[in-house]
Amino acid sequence: MTEPKIQTAAPDQLLPMPEDWQRALAVVAHPDDLEYGCSAAIAGWTDGGRQVTYVLATRGEAGIDTLEPAKCAPLREQEQRASAAVVGVDTVEFLDHKDGVIEYGTALRRDIAAAIRRHRPELVITLNHRDTWGGVAWNTPDHVAVGRATLDAAADAGNRWIFPELTEQGLEPWNGVRWVAVAGSSSPTHAVDATPGIERAVHSLLEHRTYIEVLTDEDPETYCRSFLTGNVEAMAERFGGTPAVPFELFSR
Ligand SMILES: [Zn+2]
Repeated sequence: MTEPKIQTAAPDQLLPMPEDWQRALAVVAHPDDLEYGCSAAIAGWTDGGRQVTYVLATRGEAGIDTLEPAKCAPLREQEQRASAAVVGVDTVEFLDHKDGVIEYGTALRRDIAAAIRRHRPELVITLNHRDTWGGVAWNTPDHVAVGRATLDAAADAGNRWIFPELTEQGLEPWNGVRWVAVAGSSSPTHAVDATPGIERAVHSLLEHRTYIEVLTDEDPETYCRSFLTGNVEAMAERFGGTPAVPFELFSR
């Protein structure tokens, strides 16, 4: 008699994301950063009664070549608020750093630590902080700066002595961040079933209509749908056949 075969996951299989949390804070550089993949997971989470808040470092005012920043900023802010609402996110804040030239440093870490103290999340979400999207697809400096500063600020928020001015402003330390989940990483470790949220994710991305109409000649809805469904379906082979939103999860 042969030994029974032990079922083990293939080494590249992604683990399910933790579910024992109530509040998440997503911190990214630009309007649309969360809509290019992450918002399918967010829709599923808010369905389950969880609270998700967005914080954007900029208003994406340098994102449209044909539109000067002063006119672009309010438009993209409005599109971002609409796109958040589609996936059940009511609170969207902007930190007013400058699009395209966000500087990694203590000012950025302090602003993000303040946001973490205001919202007291257990889960923090950000976008790819690594140099590339994988291979030789170079990332942008804004994403790298905000991603790294968010990973750092998760700890800064809990230390009353790092930014004492925040405590003086009434923002008490919050040491309750248990994980930072990085979307768009080329080294994902975990994933979320995209099925319940994918349709709203398509409509959420579609709210960035001005940006998308400049970006592509394709019909906007066709473009959003094929981009997002293609990505989540490509992850299925690493998540037991289920279309998935991947994250690189850093535990604290
Ligand atoms: Zn971006």
